Amino acid sequence: MRILVVEDEEAIADVIATKLRKEKYEVDICFEGEEGLYNSLSNIYDLIILDIMLPNMNGLEILKEIRDNDINAKVIMLTAKSELDDKLKGFEIGADDYVTKPFHIEELIARVNVQLRNKGNSKVKDILEYSDLALNIRTSTLTCVKTNESINIPYREFLLLEYFMNNKEQIISKEQIYDKVWGIETDFESNNLEAYLSFLRKKIKIIGSKVNIKAVRNLGYKMEE
Ligand code: CA
Repeated sequence: MRILVVEDEEAIADVIATKLRKEKYEVDICFEGEEGLYNSLSNIYDLIILDIMLPNMNGLEILKEIRDNDINAKVIMLTAKSELDDKLKGFEIGADDYVTKPFHIEELIARVNVQLRNKGNSKVKDILEYSDLALNIRTSTLTCVKTNESINIPYREFLLLEYFMNNKEQIISKEQIYDKVWGIETDFESNNLEAYLSFLRKKIKIIGSKVNIKAVRNLGYKMEE
């Protein structure tokens, strides 16, 4: 799952990102408001950690924009003690939780985990299912329920497969895949998406599934039976 941290105090942002990465989340960081909004609107994040006091655009303005644009990522606001009014306003606009600065990093991580567990969609179910495939997101094990064969999926391929299984039978563009799996900072040329897809297709085939990830000319890729 991918998390965006919008926080202008670089030391704090780095502590948060480092800890979240240890918890196996994918993390992007923005140090100012406009970039934070721009990245939020890409709609690739499951959760956004949003500071209120930011250069160029404050966290409440960003929150309002992302909710106005129907981005349903979970949002945890970071607020200073003196910003109680902002906190209340944040809930009004659509924040899911807040953490008051200074905070213990463990507290923030715990709240992140709660939000993502509560997220009312398939992303936090232990098993993602499509056709004859079942992907255990805790163990990264892919099983074909027809043949009862299983295979372990390495990290990037797992992110790729998770994304397809959450968007089954929909066309996903290369750009969306790069943003989601490799992050917004990625250099498009540096990752060979086709190679990863072919590894993944082979694994799906090995366990005897009839599912395929098909290239759709000029548009992207689609998971189908
Ligand atoms: Ca700040």
